[in-house]
Amino acid sequence: MATNLPSRAFRYGTPVKNGRREGAKPLTSQVMITSNPPRPVWPAMVTGARCRCPNCQKGKLFSGFLKVSDKCAECGEDYSHQRADDAPPYFTIFIVGHIIVPLVIWAEVAFTPALWLHMAIWVPITIAMSLFFLRPIKGAIVALQWANYMHGFDPNSEPDFPMAEPILEN
Ligand SMILES: [Zn+2]
Repeated sequence: MATNLPSRAFRYGTPVKNGRREGAKPLTSQVMITSNPPRPVWPAMVTGARCRCPNCQKGKLFSGFLKVSDKCAECGEDYSHQRADDAPPYFTIFIVGHIIVPLVIWAEVAFTPALWLHMAIWVPITIAMSLFFLRPIKGAIVALQWANYMHGFDPNSEPDFPMAEPILEN
């Protein structure tokens, strides 16, 4: 049965007549296939986690604590396309929560410290760990998007979101 089906490359765009496709051409002649050079994802993410530009491994990825540079000062790679959004805090909460919560439970079971002591210990540690993880995680996320040509990192892609037109008075 399956042998009677047109192959995947011939399915689209050509009319069917008497069960056969007319003028079927290979997909490559119907669709412009553009390819970007492959960018290994894990090395890029490691470089991003070191807060370095994954393209040249030299330039700084951040212009502030969490502000991503618009362009790499070394190689000129455009990082304004990044859409890390709330992924870095999400993964930071995920990681820090999975470290802190078992420790709190262990301390409670083992020592049953007073509540104020719990607060005095875990709140500063939680804040410090969050600040420690947030920046490298954001760097890794931006590098992940860069390596996969997500959003505007693909030079052949359409813009993700059309820019809002300013509302002009008068
Ligand atoms: Zn660079």
